[in-house]
Amino acid sequence: MFFFARPGPWGVACLNSSTTSTSTLRTIASTPRIGFYTSPTLDCESSALGTIFMSTREPKSKSPRSRRNLTQAPRDGKPETILPPTPWATEQRATVYPLEYLVAHGITNITGESQCKRCDARHLMTYDLEAKFAELTAFIGARTHLMHDRAPDEWLNPVFPACPSCAQPNCMRPMIAAKKRDINWLFMLLGQTLGCCTLEQLKYFCKHTGNHRTGAKNRVLYFTYLGLCKQLLPSASSHVYPEPKSKSRQIFNPSDI
Ligand SMILES: [Zn+2]
Repeated sequence: MFFFARPGPWGVACLNSSTTSTSTLRTIASTPRIGFYTSPTLDCESSALGTIFMSTREPKSKSPRSRRNLTQAPRDGKPETILPPTPWATEQRATVYPLEYLVAHGITNITGESQCKRCDARHLMTYDLEAKFAELTAFIGARTHLMHDRAPDEWLNPVFPACPSCAQPNCMRPMIAAKKRDINWLFMLLGQTLGCCTLEQLKYFCKHTGNHRTGAKNRVLYFTYLGLCKQLLPSASSHVYPEPKSKSRQIFNPSDI
């Protein structure tokens, strides 16, 4: 279950009936904003932080033949679209709106429910979309030459925020929806906690977004991260790469940062 009301500038809202200090997680939402695109058109080629994500897979074909392809389309009997689980998700499975769209529509705080591993308290947490995405792209830019299409340890074993209730560090683990179509992908991307997903959940994302979904978890997790970045900056690749070299490879170009 998700709550969409903005919890306020403190970045976390307690879902329990008891009152709780909310200052512990203030840094989540109060991280200084960092500009990482220079124009409303997201012209990343000219951006100082032009993090480039490239999904080289062709867009889904609308042909009946493609829709029968069980590797890309929902099984027979399942609708092509879903009820978006969050305001930042589209009606396509495992797909979020581009950053430009979200900012233009005032969706700049991304919320999600987390639960403490120690005391089980649940809290609604908020991430500043632009600040946290800039943080993520900076991390990728600094580490991409070491990744080799594999998620680094930081993604495989995420560090969680401290619990506002019991104050224990590294405790607030994101709660993942039981139904995969309802997973709050963007919330976990910004928190860099997608590693909490099971391999099956990550494969679901890759299946519905045209990314690699074979191999070990670190590989599928890597493509989930880059696939979501590509959704947020869909125009980034076209400025830099005129033709894809591989139809199933995400390319990140650190030299453009
Ligand atoms: Zn706790």
